[in-house]
Amino acid sequence: MEQYLEVRQAGDAAGNGMILRWRFPSGLCIYGLPTPNQYGGEWDLGPTWNYLVEADRPFLVDAGRWGQGGLLVEMLRGLGRAPRELDFVLLSHGHEDHDGGLAEVVQQTDARVKAHAVYSRLVRKYPELAPEGYKRDFPAKCWHCFMPESFYSRNCLAYHHESQARRVEEIGDGRQPLAPGLETLHVPGHSPDALALLAGDEALIVGDTILPGITPWPTGHYLYHQVASVLADEYPEPAAIFGLKRYLRSLKELRALGLAHPDIVVLPAHRLYHGGRFNALDLAARVEELIQHHLNRCADILRILAGGPQDVEAIARAHFEPDKLQGPGIMMAKNEVLCHCELLMEAGDVVRLENKTYAATGSQNFEGLILGS
Ligand SMILES: [Zn+2]
Ligand SMILES: [Zn+2]
Repeated sequence: MEQYLEVRQAGDAAGNGMILRWRFPSGLCIYGLPTPNQYGGEWDLGPTWNYLVEADRPFLVDAGRWGQGGLLVEMLRGLGRAPRELDFVLLSHGHEDHDGGLAEVVQQTDARVKAHAVYSRLVRKYPELAPEGYKRDFPAKCWHCFMPESFYSRNCLAYHHESQARRVEEIGDGRQPLAPGLETLHVPGHSPDALALLAGDEALIVGDTILPGITPWPTGHYLYHQVASVLADEYPEPAAIFGLKRYLRSLKELRALGLAHPDIVVLPAHRLYHGGRFNALDLAARVEELIQHHLNRCADILRILAGGPQDVEAIARAHFEPDKLQGPGIMMAKNEVLCHCELLMEAGDVVRLENKTYAATGSQNFEGLILGS
């Protein structure tokens, strides 16, 4: 990674304030432009790494959190780019630390917005379609939000409002040409609308699909069922865009790229720089680590269930360290357990009982399912 890298501006130990530039042999230039991403509390992903890609016309991948769009436009100015030069913003996925700053960037630059078609569906409000008991005045992607009102009233309501009128140029599934020498890859799993950007054999911008030091959380089919009323026409099967198994398939597609192009520079959306140093990613090797992580988690869930049926929360409390379960941590831990239980059920290793507990069947087929699919 550091072969083509120039640190244009130094920052703090987490990477805040840095400006990086890669100049690749083909002449392609990519800038790394981190925006602060502090939610408060213990949980610190580090800044969101947005990227400026100098194609025929420059474009951005991601726009940082709500409130950070202006800073990003300032960074462009600092690089000698007039705001109007920005052609479009490509969204790696619809999480708020990536599209939150979009409204501000679009306002100040007039850039177009490109995102996967699923993003464009889930970012809208459909109060008439929202299931009973959900936050029906929120966009579909946030119907199931588990954050407390104190959080979302401060962080999300204006963001929700802004996203309603947004025009989005929709990008399709699979591999799609974006600009000369550049393609998008639909890599659902961490999010149903996740895209990676491939620049030949030189660079891969991966969003949150692959991160150094962090195992990105997967989606579950249960999340599909919460928004099926919006997506079912185009995606009648949850497994097409949601779930741990789909995530693993996306990872394997990326691993194949890594094996074909071992020197490809991987640019993640968090932790590119952390603890005062760069985290270079070997694409194929990092995918192997992530697959092993999910194998281990499945094995541990079966170990826990060997003592008798348990519900999701009990499994989460047995599997995770207590400090991971503080605040919203418990919801994230339960999501992890649910996603793995879905896969274990598909493998036939676990069944869900009437009282919403999960029971081990005694088989251990998950390995074949994870490694084979
Ligand atoms: Zn994300
Ligand atoms: Zn993120």
